[in-house]
Amino acid sequence: MEADAVIVGGGPAGMACALRLAQLIDEHNARHPDAPLSKENIYVLEKSREIGQHCLSGALLDPRSMRELLPGFEKEAPLDAEVSREAVYYLTKNSKFKLPITPPPLRDHGNYVISLNRFVKWMGEKVEAAGITVFTGFAGSELLLEGDRVAGVRTDDKGVDKHNQPKGNFEPGYDLKAKVVILAEGTRGSLTKALVERLHLDRGRNPQVYGVGVKELWEVPAGRVAPGEVIYTLGYPLTTREYGGAWIYGSPNNIVSLGFVTGLDYPDPRLDPQRVLQQFKRHPFVAALLEGGKMIRYGAKSLPYGGWWAVPPLAGHCWMILGDSAGLLNSQRLKGIHLAIKSGMLAAETAFECMLKNDCTAAALSAYQARVDASWIKTELWKVRNFHQGFEHGFWAGLLHTGLQQVTGGRGLRARYAGQPGYKRMRPLAALPADGGADAHLIGPAKGDGKLTFDKLTDLYHSGTRHEEDQPSHLIIHDTNLCSQRCVVEFGSPCQNFCPANVYEMVDDSAAPNGKRISLNPSNCVHCKTCDIMDPYQVITWVPPEGGGGPNYDGM
Ligand code: SF4
Repeated sequence: MEADAVIVGGGPAGMACALRLAQLIDEHNARHPDAPLSKENIYVLEKSREIGQHCLSGALLDPRSMRELLPGFEKEAPLDAEVSREAVYYLTKNSKFKLPITPPPLRDHGNYVISLNRFVKWMGEKVEAAGITVFTGFAGSELLLEGDRVAGVRTDDKGVDKHNQPKGNFEPGYDLKAKVVILAEGTRGSLTKALVERLHLDRGRNPQVYGVGVKELWEVPAGRVAPGEVIYTLGYPLTTREYGGAWIYGSPNNIVSLGFVTGLDYPDPRLDPQRVLQQFKRHPFVAALLEGGKMIRYGAKSLPYGGWWAVPPLAGHCWMILGDSAGLLNSQRLKGIHLAIKSGMLAAETAFECMLKNDCTAAALSAYQARVDASWIKTELWKVRNFHQGFEHGFWAGLLHTGLQQVTGGRGLRARYAGQPGYKRMRPLAALPADGGADAHLIGPAKGDGKLTFDKLTDLYHSGTRHEEDQPSHLIIHDTNLCSQRCVVEFGSPCQNFCPANVYEMVDDSAAPNGKRISLNPSNCVHCKTCDIMDPYQVITWVPPEGGGGPNYDGM
């Protein structure tokens, strides 16, 4: 199939891109009815069965970019509540200390508590109403490359069994030959990753670093957290060696979104981010908010923390990269949706010009990079360019660097703070106390009491995750010998811990080295990408499963 533009990923960035492109084409066609442009050959590929189903975030929306995209959007968008109150607490094991003033980056008055997946669903309706086709249940499985030119995208094959053999319902993927391919796959996009590797787009950049947010949605007794109330916490249950923090947001009807973001650069391979969230809920302050309530949804997603120095080149020969796929997230404000939307709009403006001139060369598409550089995306990210790296030596050093960066416009002690990939900070078991030491409460699987805390499988059940069982594994371990021969001894098989969905299991096998063999349950996968990011040997590759499979987020 021939396409003018293919947008891979129907999240906020991809939908904003599609909508802005439709707006520009409509405006052009109104001005030039004699030379109209068509929207017919612009496609959005979305791997979930329904638009928005795989989208998960806290979420707080800074409305800046939406006001540019759709002035007055507040009147019709699904917004849960305007932020009316915020507080930041530092937690110790049994106490809490409220910061006397909320640090400016965490002031959220004027922002909105939203459910990202409902918001994106609404954006998707706008995109379809504007005449752009969204192919749901179709993943971009491969880039069609011709040298450094991205000539299109191949979608996933349907109806392939777990032995890679065609089933009765086999349908090969489509080759969408596109003038421009726009990658909006979210964090650690599989096509983006392949492109970055192929074209060495990370050369001269800081390595991207990530966190994983594990989230539960709760229904609580009335009066606990007001709609629009925002609480952030630092400290417990993490120690000063780990990076991360929690959010608690109030929505109408006594719904509370709470979650914990754990930096994927922690030292102890036994740490389990899902357990971190369970431990957080045990804190007396949090437990009191949830007492008598009910957990109704669960999910997890990774997010890019690396900041401006880790952003790859954003455009090249017939391709552009948007939003979380490009690492456009402000980790100090814990916000990226507004940046994703803005990047989608700027990419759309560039794609529109290219359609007009019939020129999608690297030179033409470099206008996208120039637009981002001249926009408030760069202004916002430039101020926090060294933020996350400042925490590489622990929490207190990080606070000191943050203070210095605050008074030097983001510079701090050096013009550019270096960084290292998070998985490289994982330490072998031999270098750690056998009982976990200060991290003892964070290691190993959470057991759960079934009321306040939950084991992983119970949580997972609330994500609605479903995949076709008889299909090839979409988690590719390039060398499973490493798992049995080295990883089990050196790191204690951390995939069992960092995966928030119980996909990885080391099972007993007397024939295997060290008596253990890796076994996978890919149908549990919530597509968070943590394994692709945090595996200490970097031998796991996440690829999209057959389109339609994955979590079924609702209200997340
Ligand atoms: Fe996340 Fe990987 Fe586990 Fe899937 S298998 S839920 S991508 S860590």
